[in-house]
Amino acid sequence: MQLKENISLKQFNTFGIDVSAKYFCEINSVDEYRELLDSKTISAEKKLILGGGSNILFTKNFDGLVIRNNIRGIEIVSETETHVIIKAAAGESWHNLVLWCVANNYGGIENLSLIPGLAGAAPMQNIGAYGVEIKDVFHQLEAIDAHTGELTMFDLNDCHFGYRESVFKHKYKDQFLISSLSLRLTKVSSKTIYHYKTEYGDVKATLSEMRAYDLSLKAVSDAIIKIRSSKLPDPKVIGNAGSFFKNPVISKQQFETLVMKYPVMPSYLQKDGTVKVPAGWLIEQCGWKGKVVGNTGAHATQALVLVNYGNATGKEIWNLAMEIQQSVKEKFGIDITPEVNVV
Ligand SMILES: Cc1cc2nc3c(=O)[nH]c(=O)nc-3n(C[C@H](O)[C@H](O)[C@H](O)COP(=O)(O)OP(=O)(O)OC[C@H]3O[C@@H](n4cnc5c(N)ncnc54)[C@H](O)[C@@H]3O)c2cc1C
Repeated sequence: MQLKENISLKQFNTFGIDVSAKYFCEINSVDEYRELLDSKTISAEKKLILGGGSNILFTKNFDGLVIRNNIRGIEIVSETETHVIIKAAAGESWHNLVLWCVANNYGGIENLSLIPGLAGAAPMQNIGAYGVEIKDVFHQLEAIDAHTGELTMFDLNDCHFGYRESVFKHKYKDQFLISSLSLRLTKVSSKTIYHYKTEYGDVKATLSEMRAYDLSLKAVSDAIIKIRSSKLPDPKVIGNAGSFFKNPVISKQQFETLVMKYPVMPSYLQKDGTVKVPAGWLIEQCGWKGKVVGNTGAHATQALVLVNYGNATGKEIWNLAMEIQQSVKEKFGIDITPEVNVV
């Protein structure tokens, strides 16, 4: 374990923001993390756990210790004839974990293919895409208390998962290092009936375009990869952190008033009677789609994705986000809130 000083974080965040960390360290095991917590030099420093840096916006230098999680390993914990519980160390690449599950015919996370980042960050915001969220297959996670170094287990109820939410974003913010994640997946075989989720977005159309008439985990995963690759800007080419804002949820009453003025406003009725409205549509209606502001902008095909065209600072991106937020509030009276973690 090597403690580095004054390190640029540019290559460690997908926005490509060039800020520095006072201290930086990569950990390969829970023991190394505990060693860091005990270290006299840095135990009092402010700490930030970093995964793939794909859901974070640095607006200033980090005056403390950035801990890059590199704890690896995937194992089968238990299995029955129909299900398997797998445990992934937090430093595993999320997409590689999905591919591993697909290759082993374990169903449940194939719709979450190609989401950037590491397994340990997936429960942070209950990652979701194409009708699936991690909470649907979540079994439990192990986390290490940043103050005591003690191991704590969290089950589904403990995590308080919601739409891009969990207890780790609020009550336990920066209090735990999630060290591993266990998922309960379905063994898919010719003997089992497995319900593929293909009703969302363009999944069905893409499957038929690919002539994948016999559904399989691989076919669904490939279709999702194809859709995402064509729709979302690749952070390796243009800095971004995916959707910058969450889709707002408004009351039915507010929706009914708005839809009279904007009859084509897309909407999704929620189980509790509230209505979810796509933030991307609201932002587009405010004229931001494809707009370039200095070194930043809202992407030309996905207004919800804010991008770094080269040398943007985190502050520039944050200022743009605030301008967008304000214009949506003024036009629609709706508050949109960031999904990205702002540091
Ligand atoms: C192109 C693109 C597309 C995306 N699409 C989606 C999508 O479809 N659905 C979706 O939900 N998200 C999406 N995202 C967002 C992002 O990929 C996910 O939120 C991902 O889980 C973040 O993982 P990460 O390892 O990069 O986390 P980071 O950005 O490194 O960290 C995110 C937060 O989690 C904390 N954290 C990270 N690891 C740990 C840990 N082990 N223990 C405790 N805290 C930790 C960090 O301190 C930070 O607050 C997308 C991002 C991009 C760039």
